[in-house]
Amino acid sequence: MTGELEPQSSHNPSWRSSSRFERPSVPGGQPAVFLDRDGTIIEHVHYLSDVLQVRLLPGAAQAIERLRAAGYACVVVTNQSAIGRGMITEAQLGLIHDEMNRQLAAAGTAVDAIEFCPATPGSADRSLIEHIDRKPGPGMLFRATAALGLDLDASWMIGDMLSDVLAGVNAGCRGSILVQTGKGLDQAEKENETVAAYHVTEDLTTAADLILNSDAP
Ligand SMILES: [Mg+2]
Repeated sequence: MTGELEPQSSHNPSWRSSSRFERPSVPGGQPAVFLDRDGTIIEHVHYLSDVLQVRLLPGAAQAIERLRAAGYACVVVTNQSAIGRGMITEAQLGLIHDEMNRQLAAAGTAVDAIEFCPATPGSADRSLIEHIDRKPGPGMLFRATAALGLDLDASWMIGDMLSDVLAGVNAGCRGSILVQTGKGLDQAEKENETVAAYHVTEDLTTAADLILNSDAP
């Protein structure tokens, strides 16, 4: 399935009313593409813990390089509850990211930043914000936005799960794209009426096409 879903009712979580979470967007700043990691850039492995399991998805490095060449900062935002659960350490996560960066460099590109959230969820509902930084919360996107001076209104979020799409919506990105190279949505999520509008593409290559075509005059 590709194409654009019908806009549905707006997602309006309660955290919006809290002054703790000011949206740090910089009008006229650099636009970004926020990228989920597993099932979006690299192959999805359940609780990835070994650098030998890190494998770039076909075309992912080339898609990232095209986005960077067009002026987008590419920022990885990854939920890492495996840390919160004690299954991997931050040091092991660092080695996994070193290996991903090595493979990206070998393919002639890089990412501009990597943000992770170690929080462990208490619910299986991927639309529920339990921690500001854990997707679908916008906290990791806000953190990178503040650090890099990004313009959220001109930025995009790409991922393979509902929580990724909603993180982009909750951060007020220009658009969110669901790629079909990872976990995808379960049936209840497909029928969820509370999800805001988002796009669906086959993979990161076609997601980059959508973004770059949207910039065409
Ligand atoms: Mg994923």
